[in-house]
Amino acid sequence: MANHLFDLIRSTITDPNRLFMESSDGAHMSYGALMEETGRYANALAALGIKPGDRVAVQLEKSPAVIFIYLACVRIGAVFLPLNTGYTLNELDYFISDSGAALVICDPQAEAGLAEIAKRHNTLLETHGRDQSGSLYQKAASAPAHFADVMRGPHDLAAILYTSGTTGRSKGAMLSHDNLASNALALVQTWHFTPNDVLIHALPVFHTHGLFVATNVTLMAGSSLIFLPKFDAKLVLAYLNRASVLMGVPTFYTRLLDEAGLDREATAKMRLFISGSAPLLADTHREWSKRTGHAILERYGMTETNMNTSNPYDGDRVPGTVGMPLPGVEARIVDPETGTVLPQGDIGMIEVKGPNVFKGYWNMPDKTKAEFRHDGFFITGDLGQIDERGYLSIVGRGKDLIISGGLNIYPKEVEEEIDALEGVVESAVIGLPHPDFGEGVVAVIVREKDATLNDNAVMAGLDGRLARFKLPKRIFFVDELPRNTMGKVQKNLLRDSYKHLRFN
Ligand code: AMP
Repeated sequence: MANHLFDLIRSTITDPNRLFMESSDGAHMSYGALMEETGRYANALAALGIKPGDRVAVQLEKSPAVIFIYLACVRIGAVFLPLNTGYTLNELDYFISDSGAALVICDPQAEAGLAEIAKRHNTLLETHGRDQSGSLYQKAASAPAHFADVMRGPHDLAAILYTSGTTGRSKGAMLSHDNLASNALALVQTWHFTPNDVLIHALPVFHTHGLFVATNVTLMAGSSLIFLPKFDAKLVLAYLNRASVLMGVPTFYTRLLDEAGLDREATAKMRLFISGSAPLLADTHREWSKRTGHAILERYGMTETNMNTSNPYDGDRVPGTVGMPLPGVEARIVDPETGTVLPQGDIGMIEVKGPNVFKGYWNMPDKTKAEFRHDGFFITGDLGQIDERGYLSIVGRGKDLIISGGLNIYPKEVEEEIDALEGVVESAVIGLPHPDFGEGVVAVIVREKDATLNDNAVMAGLDGRLARFKLPKRIFFVDELPRNTMGKVQKNLLRDSYKHLRFN
């Protein structure tokens, strides 16, 4: 029987003894054992009555079991629904009710809190601990290893991932077997993955980056993982001499740069450093090259689309850009209002089309319709521009665009100028309501330790570098910028913190 995604994964297993995963506790798992383990979980889920198309919601601390449950869902044709471990009971209530999940799997400590919610929504509840405990662990441990995969076509759903959504309710992005399979294959090809690769996996597994990019690429290439419970700069540094690839968010790289031991010798065995999920500062890129001799490869993607673009493997990896569309993916820049394709070099809305792009938002046909053009392009919500060599740069989220006195200001342009000033670590530029201009530019800056930089020095540094209407009307200094678990600066929180600001 054909199961679109799992057949592809299976097809890479030429030697069942080959290593799939090494955990930080030293445990090793071969591909053959992975097949058996996912077969056990598939049998356990099927015995609970989970049928093809059922949603299986999972809120578990990172452990190999999350990967086994994800793959078991693929094998039984269920829809895997990972949930951020930070979500509260109130949020879980919404996700369980919105998705109509048939089963929720949580850590044993969370069971008491979730029991009432599960009961109210008529959802089964199972537990799974990191330490081989919990009701689902027990069921899987005693289930048979053989499982005949359920037939699933390319367009059947494999997963629903709720977007982090900074406005309104979070939306469930429906991802098909082929969305995941085609993207993993494109990335294996683009990033030259082979069975010899060893990937350090320190990302969360409830998000597309750690769950799909890191895991599916490894599986499709028959490579292996060093699976760490979370990012720890010292631990990752220690593993660099045994691995070949690191995938990370930009904060991985800034934290590793703070480690004195990070140098050419420590990274000599590594083949590739990949960054994504949030903008990598051009400065970090350059500093990394100087310290290690490796150019970080930056790529761009999102929950709804998997990965869209990547800097080249061979060829220039240009700091501050996210490269070109992946094989099979199209990207264009359009006028956000009219949808007209803009001339090369202009800034506008990034739209993408390809086998990577999701099937729509779960239970939200109107929202889905509003975010696709008639010719099938998805409106990403990100603003960007494409240079004469075809490299895409992201200038920010559309909703972060500042309109002051009727003029558009792209925060990134102002942030780059501020970041280039002596004594600045990083900055975030936001727009706040202004009585005359509609919005006024506000800069929130993190200074280097001991830097004496003040408002006047910033304004003096920006003088002549930016048109006057783009200059900050107010400047705040903070110890750090608010970030989510994927390292993204949360501008909505910043706007909220300063919402009572009065411009004078
Ligand atoms: P998520 O759905 O959580 O993966 O967030 C996707 C969003 O992250 C995109 O729409 C972009 O705004 C941002 N993003 C992802 N990769 C990059 C990148 N390399 N540079 C800048 N922003 C990025």
